[in-house]
Amino acid sequence: MKFIAQKSLRKKISASLEAITCSVSAATSNLGTGASLGINVVRDWIVPPTCLMCDAIVVQPGGCCSKCWGTIRFVARPYCEVLGSPFSYDMGQGAVCADAIANPPPFNRARAAVLYDDPIRRLISGLKYSDRLDVAPWIAKWMARAGRQLIEENPIVIPVPLYKTRLLTRRFNQSAEIARTICKDKNLEYRPQALKRIRKTKQQVGLSRQERAQNVSGVFIVPPEYGAELKGKSILLIDDVLTTGATVSSAAKALNRVGVASVDVLTFARVESFDM
Ligand SMILES: [Zn+2]
Repeated sequence: MKFIAQKSLRKKISASLEAITCSVSAATSNLGTGASLGINVVRDWIVPPTCLMCDAIVVQPGGCCSKCWGTIRFVARPYCEVLGSPFSYDMGQGAVCADAIANPPPFNRARAAVLYDDPIRRLISGLKYSDRLDVAPWIAKWMARAGRQLIEENPIVIPVPLYKTRLLTRRFNQSAEIARTICKDKNLEYRPQALKRIRKTKQQVGLSRQERAQNVSGVFIVPPEYGAELKGKSILLIDDVLTTGATVSSAAKALNRVGVASVDVLTFARVESFDM
């Protein structure tokens, strides 16, 4: 895609300019902040910053153009206190949806920053498959805002892990990148190794509710060395998208088995409603 190629070019130019400045700095020692400002000006002049979601030119790197901004549907109250699914009208404080009552999930609360639609899907694909790690801080910022109430309780943060072979092909876990940024910004404990995916699973897309649950059933474990540390603690699970709820439910069950006090779920995007 054109905008991904442009961003990658921008990254390469930044890296080359930084390498040049490092050599110059070594020789002159006093360049510091001025040199870095200079790099940004030169880079923005050669390849202007583009919108996070399309190829429109924006003033500040890491921002959205007004057109894309207008398409983002942020998740805001009123929503179900448990599943975080948006309500079309306010049913009063603490209202819980019928799905959460019929099938109580193994986590306390799920929260998300935005609804999952085409522009957001493109943004997440960029992060997952095109090494667009520069969008992670932006995503983390919006997630921290959506999950402020959960973060204030000072939980231990655990990203939903990838299976080891998938991690090798993708080279990084997008949920871990987001979780790490949130922990750094909010000064939370980050434990990416405290949950492990022990086998490969099929894609959840296209599976029935029962098949989805079976596909991820028993796929997560807490390694024995983390059991004692997590016992009695509040956990915040981080994932990029909440589509069916099956994956985070399976992960929450593994955490509940070692006696954590509670599990909350924070994702960047979520589908408007889903069956648990
Ligand atoms: Zn845009």
